[in-house]
Amino acid sequence: MLLKIGAAVSGEDLGYLLHKNPARAHAFDLAFGKAHVFYTRLGEDHAEAALLLDVDPIGLVRSGRQTGGEGALDHYVNDRPYAASSFLSVALSRVFGTAMSGKSKERQELADQPLDLEATIAALPCQDGEAFLRSLFEPLGYAVSAERHPLDEQFPEWGDGPYWTARIQGRARLRDLLTHIYVLVPALDAEKHYWVGPDEVEKLLRKGEGWLASHPRKEAIAAGYLRYDRTLIRDALARLVDEDSGDPEAEDHARRREEADLETPLRLAEQRTGAVLACLRAVEARSVVDLGCGEGKLLKALLEDRSLERIAGMDVSWRSIEAAQRRLRLHQMPPAQRGRIELIHGSLLYSDKRLTGFDAATVVEVIEHLDPPRLAAFERVVFERAAPRAVVVTTPNFEYNVKFPALPANRLRHRDHRFEWTRPQFAVWAAAVADRFGYSVRFLGIGPEDFVAGPPTQMGVFAK
Ligand code: SAH
Repeated sequence: MLLKIGAAVSGEDLGYLLHKNPARAHAFDLAFGKAHVFYTRLGEDHAEAALLLDVDPIGLVRSGRQTGGEGALDHYVNDRPYAASSFLSVALSRVFGTAMSGKSKERQELADQPLDLEATIAALPCQDGEAFLRSLFEPLGYAVSAERHPLDEQFPEWGDGPYWTARIQGRARLRDLLTHIYVLVPALDAEKHYWVGPDEVEKLLRKGEGWLASHPRKEAIAAGYLRYDRTLIRDALARLVDEDSGDPEAEDHARRREEADLETPLRLAEQRTGAVLACLRAVEARSVVDLGCGEGKLLKALLEDRSLERIAGMDVSWRSIEAAQRRLRLHQMPPAQRGRIELIHGSLLYSDKRLTGFDAATVVEVIEHLDPPRLAAFERVVFERAAPRAVVVTTPNFEYNVKFPALPANRLRHRDHRFEWTRPQFAVWAAAVADRFGYSVRFLGIGPEDFVAGPPTQMGVFAK
């Protein structure tokens, strides 16, 4: 388990900031193994320190600190020795505790000041993928780059494993970077090695002071950190909200955000992505075109799915295409990856040869942006001309709007929406389209389903 911290300061300064003399290596005995600190770079204006954690798997079992059932093989054979996990956090607070508290006898002014920092974490387990990793660090102002490791270097055909090497860069105070890593690494790795009790809530809240309450993924962070213990999560979140309301500025900010994006609290965009991916897998699509791809959120998830050989995104808005290029880092993509994806600037209202030859098409939150008289053209372009064997369409369920407290009665969710359909309206339209172009259609809900109003998003899955 390896964490490297680089900073745009001299080796001597970093030594003072971390309270570890750069002239020698340091070793610490921990309950679960040994921690080593040494410097990998000592320049005039750039230095890097490494924290290497040598977890002892046998010692873990003997000391009864391992999770899992009695005598289970995974007591001995597991990822704990090398994966970055809550062990890393324990080591961080033991080894860099003073730096995390923000104190520095010799360099207090540097400790108080944002610096150009970079942390590299090797073997970071991230079952939920790169997007999740980014969603934790990016809102805190860091740039994230992540490289996924194959399951086995010698057998690339086995595909990717669940570990990543993550590089987190940004301008921050050293104490903040260390604290963010302390909280977010265990949140990524649900397998916490020690008993999670109420004092963990205290630790989370203390370390989260000043940033967690306004973090857009605070629920996911609390859930991962507290190992999905519902009572503790509820307690932590309730108290985070308390913290919020003490700060009028934060409250104002929160309200504005809510108005701007009603659906965020439901994490609907992510749920839509998950639901669409599941549909694509069910129809065993090898190629897919995302129509009205916007800034490419779905495309990014599609790229992570190795079973997709050919992916395209199309949008009428050039700005969206540019934003998608940036989000996907198209210009920096390795050629093998770059060959899997293309972006198409075009309109869904005109027949387009570039849309043919795909197994599936996705149309996520797009139809409601089309003028109703234009829908007939859209139907022919997609179902008659492009004619993939599966089409996944999602659109808001108008009935659910009463459940958004911030939305005045009978208003649509977005200024650019030309309509929002009730479930029967969508079903009538979809059934007629399926009938006309030789598809079958079934309906699924996305998001928390209300007994009366139904789900916030409705999805039609067309197949032929
Ligand atoms: N699918 C994305 C974006 C939804 S917003 C997501 O789920 O995040 C609707 C998108 O449809 C916008 O990016 C808009 O530019 C695009 N769009 C609207 N009319 C279009 C048309 N006629 N042809 C192609 N794209 C269109």
